[in-house]
This record gives sequence, C-alpha cells and structure tokens, in this order.
Amino acid sequence: MSELLSVSEAQRFILKDFKPTEPQKLPLEQASRRILAEDIFSSLDLPPFANSSMDGFAVHASDIGAATPEHSVILKVVGDIPAGKHQQIKVAHGQAVRIMTGAPLPVDCDAVVPVENTRFDTPAPDQELPATVEILKPARPGDSIRPVGQDVRQGDLIMSRGTRLGPQQVGMLAMLGASRVAVHRPPRIAVFSSGDELVTAGAPLEPGKIYDSNTLMLVSLVEKYWAEVINLGIAPDDIAAIRRLLDRAVSEKVDLILSSAGVSVGSYDYIRSLVQADGEITLWRVNMRPGKPLTYGSYQHIPFIGLPGNPVSAYMGFEIFVRPVLMKLQGRLSWQRTMIQVEIDEAIESDGRESYLRAIVRNQEGKWIGRLTGHQGSGNLRSLVQANALLLIPSEVKSLPVGARVEGWLLDE
Ligand code: AMP
Ligand code: MG
Repeated sequence: MSELLSVSEAQRFILKDFKPTEPQKLPLEQASRRILAEDIFSSLDLPPFANSSMDGFAVHASDIGAATPEHSVILKVVGDIPAGKHQQIKVAHGQAVRIMTGAPLPVDCDAVVPVENTRFDTPAPDQELPATVEILKPARPGDSIRPVGQDVRQGDLIMSRGTRLGPQQVGMLAMLGASRVAVHRPPRIAVFSSGDELVTAGAPLEPGKIYDSNTLMLVSLVEKYWAEVINLGIAPDDIAAIRRLLDRAVSEKVDLILSSAGVSVGSYDYIRSLVQADGEITLWRVNMRPGKPLTYGSYQHIPFIGLPGNPVSAYMGFEIFVRPVLMKLQGRLSWQRTMIQVEIDEAIESDGRESYLRAIVRNQEGKWIGRLTGHQGSGNLRSLVQANALLLIPSEVKSLPVGARVEGWLLDE
C-alpha cells in the first residue's frame, strides 16, 4: 500500500504532462468565461476626462464657502452640459453651469454642487435653464468630481495572463475599448462509461442492470469547469466496443480521454490493458479513499484518465485530478481551492488513507461546524447530493474525536 502515490504526488505526476491550449484572438463578446492568454495594459486614462459624479452645478468652490440654506449664495447659470457633450464654457466667478453625471467638467470649475444642495426656479417656458441657482451648502475643491485617471492610468497593468474573464473583467475590457482579446481555446474532453450492467435512463431496468449515472455526471463536471465535452456514451465490457470508443475519441482530436469504470482488478476490467496495448499506463491507483483505482496514461498519444466506476469515486477522482488538468489546459496559473477549517461535531473513523468525506457544514458565529452525510460508501451518491462540503481526512489519521478540526471545501464555491 505504501508504494502507492499520495494524492499530491499523483496530482503532480499527472499535471506535468499538460500545457495550456493555444491562444486565439476573439471578439470580446465571445470571450466571456475564457482565460486570458495575454497581459492587459491600459491604452487609456480612466476616466478619460475630468467629469461630474453628480447631477448638479459646476462652480468655483471659493465662491460658495459660506453658503447655508438661510444665507444661500446666488450664482448666475451660464450654461448646460449634458453627458456626452464636450463644450468649452467660460465660467467666471459668481457663475455656475448646470452639469449632469458623467459630463465633462468646465476647465474653470473645481467643484460640483449636487442638485440636492441647490434651489432654483423652474425655467420660464421659453428657457431651458434657470437664470440663477441658489447654493445651500459649501463644497471643497474636488467635490463630486472624478479626475482624469482616477481609476486607471494609461500603461497600467489591468489584468494578467491566466485571469478568467468573468462579467466584471469583460466590463473592464470593454471600458478599456478592447474589442478583441487573446484567450485560450477551451479544452475538448471525451467522456465515456463502461460496464455491461449500465442502462441509459429512459430504457427499462432489467434485472441485474443499473442506470448509468457517471456519464452525465462527468459531462456535467466537464461543463462546470468550462471545457467542451464530447459524450461518447456507454461501452459494454467488450474489448472491441471499448476500443471503438477510444478510437472515436482520438478522431475527435480531444485533449483528454476520460472514462469511468473498468480500471479495477475485476475479470472484465479491460480498459487498462486496452490503453496499454496502444499507448501506456503510467499511473494506477492512488492512496486515497474513495477513488483508489485511478488510472492515468495515454492512448495513441492522447492523455487518458480512467476514473473508478463507483459514482462517488468517479466524482472525487474528477474533482481532485481532472479539475486541475482542465484548469491548466485552459491557461489558469493556479487552481488551489479556498479551503475552510471545519470543526466536526461527531467522531470520525478513517482507514489511514487520505479520505474525502461528504459533509454538511454550517457557519456558526464565524466558525464552520460539520458532520458527515450518512453512509460514506463509494457507491452512495445520495451522500454527495446531501452534502454541501467535502472534508479532507489526512493520511495516517485513523480516528478523530468530536471537536477536532479538519480542512475541507464548500462544494458550491
Ligand atoms: P468497476 O470499476 O467496473 O468495477 O465498477 C465499480 C462499481 O461502479 C460497480 O458497482 C459498477 O456497477 C459501478 N458503476 C460503474 N460504472 C457506472 C456508471 N456509469 N454509473 C453508475 N455506476 C457505475
Ligand atoms: Mg465494471
């Protein structure tokens, strides 16, 4: 047993073989959720011009230092600047300009008084502007003004290669005027299951058969981590049928072939020998629970990961080994999860292997408290559906008392 690789050794062993997919320059509207393949520097100052952050009146701050509602300062209104209009208006002392949020500030003015701090008569029907405005509160120079480059300076590094383009990043790129960006191609992953017992939902369940859960679970996992999936369905425990699926995966030019089941020590577990016949198996079995029979190698030069058949094991194998591969293929520079410290409120037994247990955790005054979701058998997918977190029991640990602290992560980060 001790000659088996640990989880982290196996992760490193697998990851070393993968590199990011090639970059492609895409229109920004197609780049959402992709990973940047270039550093983004700003070619602009943002804001590009000093502008008002309020609807109000642009003034000389020194004119209105003593303004109160009782002793208002009356200024002559000499112009109007809506957003989107650029106009040079001379504003002398004793004068003001009506200005809207986002409109360029007249060069003479050094403050904006929000409309709420002013009083003025409704303009006459033939007039667009009130003739005067009463200022009810003082303003300091700079008040309600967004200066040039307040947010971004031309030449600033705004985002680095490896960043995922979420909604806020897409918005930022649009704000910078970037119409095309270099992003990595999404990896293509072929998925199939194997087993004579498997039946697809919708068909009747004959004695001895079970519905195939892994294919669609793995399809869904691949999509969850932003990769493209080629669903090859189910192969029976038959050498020729499995080879046909492997060959289809090759013809689909995928970046990774992912299978479930048929990689253990059963009499009909053909996948390893098939892959080996036309490629190699470089890793088989990891010192973990669940998910020990994990298999890694390549088939006709395409990387191959064989996940165990038990549904919880297949899920865990994906989260622990396939997810980092997908991240690296997409061009992410790191894929560490956000770990939480969980205090267990029941004793936990383990078998000395690094274990990933399904748990319900709740946050109690800033502290995570957790307990397991029932029977942790590797076929019991319900325990995973009931869980909102996974707990990591390190290797060598055989039992943990109530109140012990372990690391874990939330399933829906
Ligand atoms: P195996 O690795 O082929 O020995 O399968 C281990 C266990 O996982 C057996 O109980 C299988 O019936 C079950 N199993 C294998 N593939 C699937 C699948 N696609 N969906 C649900 N259960 C599966
Ligand atoms: Mg089987």
